[in-house]
Amino acid sequence: GSPPIVLNVNGIEVIYNHVILVLKGVSLQVPEGGIVALLGGNGAGKTTTLRAVSNLLKGERGEVTKGSIELRGERIENLSPAELVRRGVVQVMEGRHCFAHLTIEENLLTGAYTRASKSEVAAGLEKVYAYFPRLKTRRGSQAAYTSGGEQQMCAIGRALMANPSMVLLDEPSMGLAPQIVEEVFEIVKDLNAKERVTFLLAEQNTNMALKYANYGYIMESGRIVMDGPAAELANNEDVKEFYLGMG
Ligand code: ATP
Repeated sequence: GSPPIVLNVNGIEVIYNHVILVLKGVSLQVPEGGIVALLGGNGAGKTTTLRAVSNLLKGERGEVTKGSIELRGERIENLSPAELVRRGVVQVMEGRHCFAHLTIEENLLTGAYTRASKSEVAAGLEKVYAYFPRLKTRRGSQAAYTSGGEQQMCAIGRALMANPSMVLLDEPSMGLAPQIVEEVFEIVKDLNAKERVTFLLAEQNTNMALKYANYGYIMESGRIVMDGPAAELANNEDVKEFYLGMG
């Protein structure tokens, strides 16, 4: 049969600053072991959707005012981001968010706070370095002096240090050269295949995202306007006309 649904977002509304209605009833499902892409242009609501799931809206003066979010059948709207990390859900924020003054390895270690023992942390590091050999080479470099691609890899690596079952990845392609974007997505594909990490990724780069995702949702002005298997979306005439070539 089909894999169980890990994440079920059901008709959520999000309001910023008590007045700005940004998500107008968003529903989506992420199956166990899937790579699901959330697509759409600037300001469509992709980041807000990810923030709603990982409960990171508060700092932005946003709140979920309608609908529900379930992780494996359990409501999670009231769980703190830290509790969500303990339950295996980790967000990689847009813009890479490495600590510029820390080395790559120190950055990775900041992601390990849910790990119980030193040996677990060491094993986590080795695993990250196995997937991101570039990070191993650059482990002693201050993040500020590494490339955009390396910083994006570092941000994903840091998320992996928490041993997540699901990663919310916000705009991994942002600001990266096409070849590096491909390199990042190849690693996502590997992590998905070998570590069974489930991904929900927000992307403006529709081309690349549909190449790697199994399923896609397209957002416009706070609503899902289309969804389907990635291959179908990639061949859809409207998608081709309005979204391919973006990003
Ligand atoms: P981007 O790729 O630019 O991040 P997005 O699809 O992720 O686009 P969001 O960042 O979710 O879109 O933004 C959706 C809408 O919410 C936009 O109109 C944006 O201006 C608005 N918005 C985002 N954050 C806030 C905030 N903290 N306060 C008020 N409005 C916000």
